[in-house]
Parts: sequence; C-alpha cells; structure tokens
Amino acid sequence: KEALFGKKKNSLNSFENTTILAIGSGKGGVGKSTVTANLAITLANMGYKVGLIDADILGYSIPQIMGIKGVRPVAIGEQAILPIETHGVKIMSMGNLVEEDEALIWRGPVLSGVLEQFMNEVYWGELDFLLLDLPPGTGDIPLSIMQEVKDARFLIVTTPQITAKGVAKRLGIMAQKTNTDIIGVIENMSYFQCDKCGEKHYIFGSGEGEKLSRELDVSFLGEIPLLKEIREGSDKGISPVVDLNSPVGKIYKAIGEKII
Ligand code: ADP
Repeated sequence: KEALFGKKKNSLNSFENTTILAIGSGKGGVGKSTVTANLAITLANMGYKVGLIDADILGYSIPQIMGIKGVRPVAIGEQAILPIETHGVKIMSMGNLVEEDEALIWRGPVLSGVLEQFMNEVYWGELDFLLLDLPPGTGDIPLSIMQEVKDARFLIVTTPQITAKGVAKRLGIMAQKTNTDIIGVIENMSYFQCDKCGEKHYIFGSGEGEKLSRELDVSFLGEIPLLKEIREGSDKGISPVVDLNSPVGKIYKAIGEKII
C-alpha cells in the first residue's frame, strides 16, 4: 500500500508506533462518532496517548461531542498546527477550522487532500492510537484510507437494525477486498434497560452486530446500550466514560481491552 502519510518527505509524523483505527459504519446516525469519541477517551483514560481525526470532513460532529466547538487549533510556524487537546485526547476536525453553519461543498479528491493535511501537517507527537472517525458508508474517504493508509485497521459500528447491518457488511467486504484488517464490530444502541423493571428491551432487534461479525469472520467487540446519559453527553460535550468505573465506563473499558 502507498502511504498517505509517514513516508512523505515533509510529513511531521511517522506514526511508526501508532495503531491507526478507522471507525466506519454503513449508515449515518448509528452513533459512530459518539462511539469513536468515547472510545478515544476510554483509551486515554487507560493510559494511552490518543489522537482523533474527524475524517467526516463534511459531516463533522466531533467538536460538538468533545465540547470543543469554536476552539481554534494553534499554529506553530507557518507549516504546522497543533491538535486541540481535551479529555486527554488530541483532536483535529474541520469543524474547528471553519465558521459554524458554513456549508462545505467539496468533492472526494479535495476531501482526501484535507485528510492528508490532517495527517501530515498537524503535529501529533507520539501517539499509541490514532482514531479516524469516518463518514458513513463506502465512499471515497474510507476507500482512500483502505488503499493508502499503511496498516490502518477498521472497526465497524452498527445498530441491531437490519438496514444498518446490510450497509455495514458492504463496508466490511470492501475492507476485505482491499486486504484491510478489520479489528471487529461494535453494536451500538443494542438495547434499552428500563429504570423501573430493569428488563432489557431490544427495541431495534437483537443479535445483528454479532451476526455481522460472524459473517465477516471478525471479533464481536461488544454491545453498547441505548442510554440517555450517552445522548446527553454527546449533546453537551461531556463524555459519560470519563469515569471508567461508571456503568457506561465499564462497558467501554471492556471494549478498549479487546482493542489494545
Ligand atoms: P453517527 O456518527 O453514526 O452519525 P452520532 O454519533 O452522531 O451518529 O449519533 C447520533 C445520535 O445518537 C446522537 O444524538 C447521539 O448522542 C445519539 N447516540 C449515539 N449512541 C447512543 C447511545 N448508545 N445511547 C443514546 N444515544 C446515542
């Protein structure tokens, strides 16, 4: 594979000892960005050095979820910028470079160019993990990463809905066709646990995430329930996984342990 970064002569980063995790989904709205942000915080809380690139350049939502809307990255010299750091995670998102509500109307090659700049011209320092929050589906950006980012590993987020699983499977097959490693599947919004009766209600169906992992012959990394505190956390920019001993924190920690 050609390197989209690293081997480049004037790249600021080598990512030699960095595990690159590209997090994708079949459809939008399955909670991919929320899972990516919370997973980044979890790995940071577990003691790892973590970077997060919002590779959903047009549909960015990481600044909102991480509580850094309106924060601008600092430039060092004329050639480089520093990522924004919060919750122990270094972050780069288009949302921190443009005005709020500005519509970006760019085609695939331009988007890949932005991603390349985020990798080469942002000074990341030493990282154990670099998470890439991909746009949903099997478009240009996931394909560029599969073909050009050396050693990128894919993680697929889906919900129990059959429609979400169907498209997620196509992403998985695309990864396999390009000889890209898939680290596993996370099922998000798996069930709702009633506060009153304690029973788990499988609102969107059940078992589809696990089924997908079997069909792709990859690991099933876990189920994340539908929880009000997760939704509120991503709306307010306060993650519920900051405490790894909280109920949500424990679920994420178990997933984090399967990834490291
Ligand atoms: P995607 O990146 O797949 O488009 P988002 O991460 O933006 O999805 O999530 C979509 C919405 O669902 C957000 O409002 C988010 O807070 C909410 N959400 C995601 N995961 C959960 C969950 N496990 N429980 C409750 N709400 C969730």
